[in-house]
Amino acid sequence: MEKILIFGHKNPDTDTITSSLVLANLETKLGKNVEACAQGKPNKETEFVLNYLGIEAPRVIEDVEDGQEVMLVDHASFEESVPNLENAKILRVVDHHKLGLTTSYPLNYRAEAVGCTETVLYKMYKEYGVEVDKKIATLMLSAIISDTLLLKSPTCTEEDVKAVKELAKIAEVDYEKYGLEMLKAGTDLSSFSIEEILNLDAKQTSLKDVKTIINQVNTASIPEVMEMKADLEAGMNKIIEEKELDLFMLLITDIVNSNSQVIALGKDAKLVEKAYGVKLEDNTALLKGVVSRKKQVIPIMTENA
Ligand code: MN
Ligand code: MN
Repeated sequence: MEKILIFGHKNPDTDTITSSLVLANLETKLGKNVEACAQGKPNKETEFVLNYLGIEAPRVIEDVEDGQEVMLVDHASFEESVPNLENAKILRVVDHHKLGLTTSYPLNYRAEAVGCTETVLYKMYKEYGVEVDKKIATLMLSAIISDTLLLKSPTCTEEDVKAVKELAKIAEVDYEKYGLEMLKAGTDLSSFSIEEILNLDAKQTSLKDVKTIINQVNTASIPEVMEMKADLEAGMNKIIEEKELDLFMLLITDIVNSNSQVIALGKDAKLVEKAYGVKLEDNTALLKGVVSRKKQVIPIMTENA
């Protein structure tokens, strides 16, 4: 009998990878012949989790054959899935996103409006009476922490909080300490050059007439990134010159405390002071509560340009 393939969405995150492993374990216990797969390699954060547990990354698949039996986790849409999903046979979906697919046949569909697929899977383990061992608990816990940014994101529900607390006991970890380390691993910039960092997530835009680049780098430790400040500034000044920019804002976003440290260079750097009522000292200031470039930076900067 051919194996049922279990996989999550494209550009896999920690929830997608761990949920395929955790559902595969559940289905195996229930007597199904399944294999956890992924539409890509694990990112640095997920790598941290897999290394911590000594688990290998799921096999990468690009597509599935016609008629292949599959189970989906952490997504329920054709766009986020393998190209040939429409010709596959979906047996089960476990998810926490909006419903983005229909089928011409019945299937087991389980989605809840919670912060993470693993919160749903944890409930399913309880319902089926399948034991959550230490490894499974750690996988679940890691994903919930990842999706909810250590229970701080607006998407986090009471159920996610409850699950993390229970799972931390089984996993025997201090979830705050472990979670911070895991999130930090995901924002590890050590393998990138200064040029790469300044290009990871740079958006060129015009704030009215002000020619601007706003670059955002996520971190769990602002001071760690600020250790590179002199090099970052040299790189930014080079780009300002090359692109004849009026302003270069580098947002170093603390994903744990939900603040951004900004480094602002260029002849219009003072706009940052006007927009946020802060004083730039040594080209930098802390923007409290600012995490979204789209919602909290571009509009207010445009207004003040
Ligand atoms: Mn996901
Ligand atoms: Mn998720």
